[in-house]
Amino acid sequence: MLIRTAERPRETTSAVAGAMWGPARLKPADRVLYWATLSHAEFTALARDESSGVHLAPGRMAARFDLGDVVPPETKLVPDLRRCHEHELPGGFVWGYRATVPLIDMPRYLDFLLARFQAAGGEIRLGPVQSLADAVAESDTVVNCTGVGAHELVGDPGVHPVLGQHVVVRNPGIDEYFIELTDGGEFTSWMPHGDRVVLGGVSLDHDWRRTPRADLSAGIRRRVAELEPRLADAEVLEETVGLRPGRESVRVEAERYEGARIIHDYGHAGSGIGLSWGCAYEVADLVEG
Ligand SMILES: Cc1cc2nc3c(=O)[nH]c(=O)nc-3n(C[C@H](O)[C@H](O)[C@H](O)COP(=O)(O)OP(=O)(O)OC[C@H]3O[C@@H](n4cnc5c(N)ncnc54)[C@H](O)[C@@H]3O)c2cc1C
Repeated sequence: MLIRTAERPRETTSAVAGAMWGPARLKPADRVLYWATLSHAEFTALARDESSGVHLAPGRMAARFDLGDVVPPETKLVPDLRRCHEHELPGGFVWGYRATVPLIDMPRYLDFLLARFQAAGGEIRLGPVQSLADAVAESDTVVNCTGVGAHELVGDPGVHPVLGQHVVVRNPGIDEYFIELTDGGEFTSWMPHGDRVVLGGVSLDHDWRRTPRADLSAGIRRRVAELEPRLADAEVLEETVGLRPGRESVRVEAERYEGARIIHDYGHAGSGIGLSWGCAYEVADLVEG
């Protein structure tokens, strides 16, 4: 088995993700629920292995406006999910849930996956493919999981970048995550991974830039410090940028292409990690026909 990739795993959007398993709010809704369910089970199992980079963390998902009592169906998978009491919410927030969910330390997790893949005999080859025809020239079964790269490679105009930026800091002792639910372009989040905490968040549609911007980092730090003073002066380790592969709906489907088979698996927007195992199982089923 061969992975052909334009970038090393630690240089991808996936490496930048926070990353939590959480509500996906994507289409198609029934498939998303199925993928989220399988992925939740897989990440929960992986959390038993410390070397995976996955752990189960308590924390809060909160909003500055009332989202009501209706929670996304996948959150029913979380055994300890409960509504926050008023005193558990930061100032300015009126709605929130507490839940223990899988948090994934992406750089460590990608190293773990790569080692597993190579131990199973897989080969990784660095370098872009210029076209789908080039890809099927290498193999008669191709899984196309090129993220935002599908815009160009597939010629899919529906795929667009949703820029995200993080500030990664040394952990001053945080063990709970926090994420603000909003449709806005700038919000507040932090996700602890051992000695590091990933601070966010930014979500800018149709922005292809891949270098960190000082104004976005300053905004992240200010918003986080307002809600969690312990993170105000934490030492900055790095600033990272990733392009979420935005799309009207996630695309997982097989296509015949010049006598070969291409199985598409892209367009996961801000939930590609949380849906990854479910999509991978579906891809494996499609590969086996
Ligand atoms: C700031 C931020 C926070 C996020 N937080 C979360 C979170 O908490 N939970 C969550 O579930 N998701 C989160 N996401 C979303 C998640 O990161 C993405 O949905 C996911 O990483 C997409 O994975 P992918 O494998 O499709 O794309 P990528 O990680 O971009 O990988 C695509 C791969 O295809 C390769 N490629 C592309 N084009 C070509 C080509 N022509 N030839 C060869 N190789 C090619 C690339 O080099 C790369 O290896 C976040 C994203 C960002 C940016």
